[in-house]
Amino acid sequence: MWRWLTVLTLAFLQSVVAASANDLKVTLLGTGTPTPRVGSFSASTLVEAGPEKLLFDFGRGSTIRLFQKHIPLGAITAHFITHLHSDHVVGLPDMWLTGWIATPWASRKSPMVIYGPAGTVAMTQNLTKAFSEDIRIREADEHLPPVGVAFDAHDIEPGLVYDKNGVKVTAIEVNHGEKIKPAFGYVIAYDGRKVVLSGDTKYDGRVANAARGADLLVHEVAVIAPELSKSYPSYRDIEAHHSSPEDAGRIFSLAKPKLTVYSHIVFATLKPVQDVPEDALVQRTRTTYRGPLIVGHDLMSFVVGDAVSAFGPNGEPVKALEAEPR
Ligand SMILES: [Zn+2]
Ligand SMILES: [Zn+2]
Repeated sequence: MWRWLTVLTLAFLQSVVAASANDLKVTLLGTGTPTPRVGSFSASTLVEAGPEKLLFDFGRGSTIRLFQKHIPLGAITAHFITHLHSDHVVGLPDMWLTGWIATPWASRKSPMVIYGPAGTVAMTQNLTKAFSEDIRIREADEHLPPVGVAFDAHDIEPGLVYDKNGVKVTAIEVNHGEKIKPAFGYVIAYDGRKVVLSGDTKYDGRVANAARGADLLVHEVAVIAPELSKSYPSYRDIEAHHSSPEDAGRIFSLAKPKLTVYSHIVFATLKPVQDVPEDALVQRTRTTYRGPLIVGHDLMSFVVGDAVSAFGPNGEPVKALEAEPR
């Protein structure tokens, strides 16, 4: 009995600690959208490579997900924003201020490094004003170091934005609609491996170009029920700014990454649902793409080594969906 338990425990640990020194590891901290679903927080993705821990977008609850992963909030080495829609930045003040508190799970002791589109620096300046009382109180009362609540923020242009410890992060412009500019996706390269995050975008060949030969492509998708747009016309705009499953599939077929994962899953129906029904999403994608596909869930992780391995929230291996034989 104990021997079996030991074997099982070892197997579990091996699956959790599958990453070796040269692997890239990607963890979905938030696969959702503004919809306040309990199981899918809004956009946030963690990429670990060598000593770098890079956070892409600050969706609602990204602090909670990092805490679940036992990663101190203050241990993030750099933060990147795809665009300034609220579902990508509402978690910023939480990450910033909670990450500053002197605890084993936070304790940032250096300025918070952030790269994002034009408006990012202004947002950090305005947040500093908005939370000036909390900053004053904690410096005086808890003696927190002022340097830990400082920002090192940068408004970026497309191109290489970060190059440290062998990890290169390149911003690519994507098409999230005429009025939502600039909007970026990101390419993360490390030790010959490549991960691409689409950011929020409708069909854009630039994502396919960036993801050609990638190990992992994390792409957004939107399914909006037609009857919803009748009662809430803004859903027409939302639909126009995102990728349908068919369009996402076209991008995947052009890029042919080793593995494709859906995250930032817009799923809107007249009667809101707590969980996204995956079958319809996958079936529609299969009309244009037949390669390996995973519908992302919060806390899923992907280890990018010679192969790309996927794991569920508890470290259990997850198999990619393959297309049915024709
Ligand atoms: Zn957006
Ligand atoms: Zn979004």
